[in-house]
Amino acid sequence: MQQPNIDWANLPFGYLPTDYNVRCYYRNGAWGEIETSSSEFINIHMAATCLHYGQEAFEGLKAYRCPDGKIRAFRIEENAARMQHTAQGILMAEMPTDKFCEMVRRVILLNERFIPPYETGAALYIRPLLIGTGPQVGVRPANEYLLLMFVTPVGPYFKGGFSTNNYVIVREYDRAAPLGTGRFKVGGNYAASLRANKLAHDNGYACEFYLDAKEKKYIDECGAANFFGIKDGKYITPKSSSILPSITNKSLQQIALDLGLQVECRPIPEEELATFEEAGACGTAAVISPIGKIDDLENGNSYVISKDGKPGPVSTKLYNTLRNIQYGIEPDRHGWITIIE
Ligand SMILES: *Cc1c(COP(=O)(O)O)cnc(C)c1O
Repeated sequence: MQQPNIDWANLPFGYLPTDYNVRCYYRNGAWGEIETSSSEFINIHMAATCLHYGQEAFEGLKAYRCPDGKIRAFRIEENAARMQHTAQGILMAEMPTDKFCEMVRRVILLNERFIPPYETGAALYIRPLLIGTGPQVGVRPANEYLLLMFVTPVGPYFKGGFSTNNYVIVREYDRAAPLGTGRFKVGGNYAASLRANKLAHDNGYACEFYLDAKEKKYIDECGAANFFGIKDGKYITPKSSSILPSITNKSLQQIALDLGLQVECRPIPEEELATFEEAGACGTAAVISPIGKIDDLENGNSYVISKDGKPGPVSTKLYNTLRNIQYGIEPDRHGWITIIE
């Protein structure tokens, strides 16, 4: 296997071309065979519903080269289930879990030489994409779909080690309405977030935080990650109909229970931020991004969560435990790992 000419240590979270992607078409009411492609392009009808009416869903997961030399992927079945849930949410064809997992396995193995070495802390990011490809001019779901998966090697999220970031509550924009598409992983939610995200970055913050759109009282989530706070031996995470159910968050809740913490899933009023001993944003990209402070520019409140600017002990323990499970260093007690071979 020829090694690609990649500077593993300095990989960004961006797109690098690899050898192959895999594709599967839904036509005449059924999914076809899984196809392998070496093209980075797709050829679709100009009236495809993904282009006009946002029939688009995606997923994101990672595969790791582990210290024992094996390749591990994390909770693939959960990504399959979430993509099915999203497909139901915007009336797209659902791919069965087995087929989804087989596509993940194939796209990883076909691009095995792009899996970063363990020591670099980088990983192979897998991006499943489901789009309505059939033409419609009136607003209706498509009759044809494409599920495509590509991979790209991505750098470690924390280049200088696990560290805190600052966030900002943005009130001028909502990413999702209470009965809207916030709980589905659709591109439209991201289109709605671009201005808020730019505002956060322009003001020097890592990411924007959203409050619930209806009352603007409770914490929803931040850009592309869920929120959790730690206090009094509890892991507390928001309950809301407009949050994307993060697989990382779900896993951290289980690990928190395993570590003897209590888990609470309930509305979190903004003012409660002042009471957390630790807090973090969680998602596949960073696992946990510990929060330094959260500013609310409108009312001038600044919730300083990490007094010394460092990640807290509970977040660090949660982070290390999840990472060690992903790398096969700690036992996989909950059946989260698929060894890719
Ligand atoms: C993907 C995503 C997350 C994180 O989910 P994971 O499954 O943990 O990667 C959180 N919020 C939003 C809005 C997302 O799109």
